[in-house]
Amino acid sequence: MYYSDIAGQNDTKKSLINTINSDNVSHCYIFEGPKGMGKYELSLVFAQSLFCTDFKVNDEPCNVCVDCVKFNSMNHPDLHVINSDEKTIKREDIDTLIESINKKPYEASRKVYIIKDSHEMTPQAANTFLKTLEEPPRDSVIILLTNNVNLLIPTIVSRCQVIKFKDINKNEIINFLMEKYDIDSVMAAVAAYYSKGILNKAINIVTKNDDIMEKRKVVIELFDRIIKTDSGIIFDCENYFEEQKDNIDEIIEIIMLWVRDVAFVKNKMEGLLINKDYLELAREHAKYMRNDVAGDLIEKLQRISDNIKNNVNYKLTIDRMLLKIQEVFKYDKGSWRKI
Ligand SMILES: [Zn+2]
Repeated sequence: MYYSDIAGQNDTKKSLINTINSDNVSHCYIFEGPKGMGKYELSLVFAQSLFCTDFKVNDEPCNVCVDCVKFNSMNHPDLHVINSDEKTIKREDIDTLIESINKKPYEASRKVYIIKDSHEMTPQAANTFLKTLEEPPRDSVIILLTNNVNLLIPTIVSRCQVIKFKDINKNEIINFLMEKYDIDSVMAAVAAYYSKGILNKAINIVTKNDDIMEKRKVVIELFDRIIKTDSGIIFDCENYFEEQKDNIDEIIEIIMLWVRDVAFVKNKMEGLLINKDYLELAREHAKYMRNDVAGDLIEKLQRISDNIKNNVNYKLTIDRMLLKIQEVFKYDKGSWRKI
């Protein structure tokens, strides 16, 4: 693995590399940040750097030495990943960790313990773990991963170096995707936008392990039919929206982004398009849009999205939303009926 395999977090990478080069590695780190930001991946590269016998050459693990080779096949005996299935961490898990931490490393000069979702420690586990931090063995590095440091007990936090993962900006994601995957700048930009700054989500979108692009295609095609047909289409859509009840927030968000895009096109700001791969359709829909009420529609969609989970009359709310869409997109009735 390489640091360059992970997008963004450049300051964090630099400071971790510096601690190795200046022989100033802490015994315990907390990596805090939302899921999918690359906390686990960075903790692995850092661990590999600590094992690599040739690290100092270019500030990347060499990926050639025996330690690196074993690490890359996830077979290094001094790497311990705890809670790899991201469930509850029980007292027994911590007991096993303590037993291991008190032994000498097998092959490297240190042992590394990565604890995923470390806030999932039961109170008993957390208390037992705290004792390890009070007298940490010199030859071990513990990395706690969490999406929220406040969920850990403060006495643990105060004994660790907390590293907060920053949001990655869209350009960093776009450049990373184009460098690592065979995609053009349009698709990289679309994936970066829909990932909301979560790198792993962006990767899943381009590798088709996330179905948001498929959902988007269906929703935009449906939207196209809604604005080109009469109100009878609303009954045709009922089944679809009933099936998508669990995903409705996502669906409404796609609709909102589409309406936003069409409004930008209408106002000659095509550069701001999110769904860049649908530019032609956005131009076509812009001809249908009543510019004066497009803002109202986005606001209404936002309100629907806020309340829909608690709304007893889901079907009625959806019907009203679709009627509102038709109202905004049937400005020039003469032209839409011909299509
Ligand atoms: Zn190496």
